[in-house]
Amino acid sequence: MIIFKHTNDISNYLFFSEASGKTTGFVPTMGALHSGHISLIEKARVECDVVISSIFVNPTQFNDPADFEKYPISIEKDIDLLEKAGCNVLFIPSVTEMYPEGLAAQKHYELGFIETVLDGAYRPGHFQGVCRVVEKLLHIVHPHQLFLGQKDYQQCMVIRKLVESMGIKTQIVICPTLRDADGLAMSSRNIRLNEEARRKAPLMYQTLSSIRQIIKPGDLSELKKQAIDHLTAGGFTVDYIEIADATTLSLIQYWDGHTALVVMVAAFINNVRLIDNLIL
Ligand code: AMP
Repeated sequence: MIIFKHTNDISNYLFFSEASGKTTGFVPTMGALHSGHISLIEKARVECDVVISSIFVNPTQFNDPADFEKYPISIEKDIDLLEKAGCNVLFIPSVTEMYPEGLAAQKHYELGFIETVLDGAYRPGHFQGVCRVVEKLLHIVHPHQLFLGQKDYQQCMVIRKLVESMGIKTQIVICPTLRDADGLAMSSRNIRLNEEARRKAPLMYQTLSSIRQIIKPGDLSELKKQAIDHLTAGGFTVDYIEIADATTLSLIQYWDGHTALVVMVAAFINNVRLIDNLIL
């Protein structure tokens, strides 16, 4: 695996080396890697000749500075995991390398409704920051395919919109959420759960699974209320649990029984914010 820290070096390598002319798959990450990330690398290996990953904890997508400060970092272990998984090229830029213009300078992305709903409402500016870094990374790497996790469902929709609106030719591949044996979606943030919180955390997936089992056409408000009560009783502080149209993310109050749905949740357990979703 070749590691690059500078934009020009990785661009030149991908353009002029033996990597050029081959199909490339890109897996951007913020590090603290787990098997969920590695499943994206493995999928990219199957689909593409050259697999490129990046590790960059992107400051512009953290609306809460404390969350940024506490973001776990395990670079040596990450490099080892990527190497073992067969990643060919790794990009680890610094903040100044990615943002030579400074962090304050802002370009605004027109994302419409998907930016203001769900996580967009609770994390103002978050998806603008995601677009800012992903646009830069895509212009550096120019991958044929971009591999993203369904775990970040709304992020996938935002990036799809970004790619379409900028006329970027990269194909987006959305990969299933990897879970621990008890159902908890793997996340870099899980490292921050203490023993008690880790024990309680699978309730999030259990709640989503119950919704999938019992949902019926009609008014969904009672179902959502019960889900919030259930999570709250189990020790969570809920930001939202919502059922939405799986293609547009419009929130659904009355279900016609036909529209494809996704149930989305964000909640804190012991000050750690977890998100998850299930297609119903
Ligand atoms: P992050 O490092 O959290 O920015 O995640 C990097 C990529 O890995 C994103 O596309 C995530 O959606 C994806 N990812 C994170 N957790 C999982 C998981 N449990 N299963 C599959 N993909 C994941």
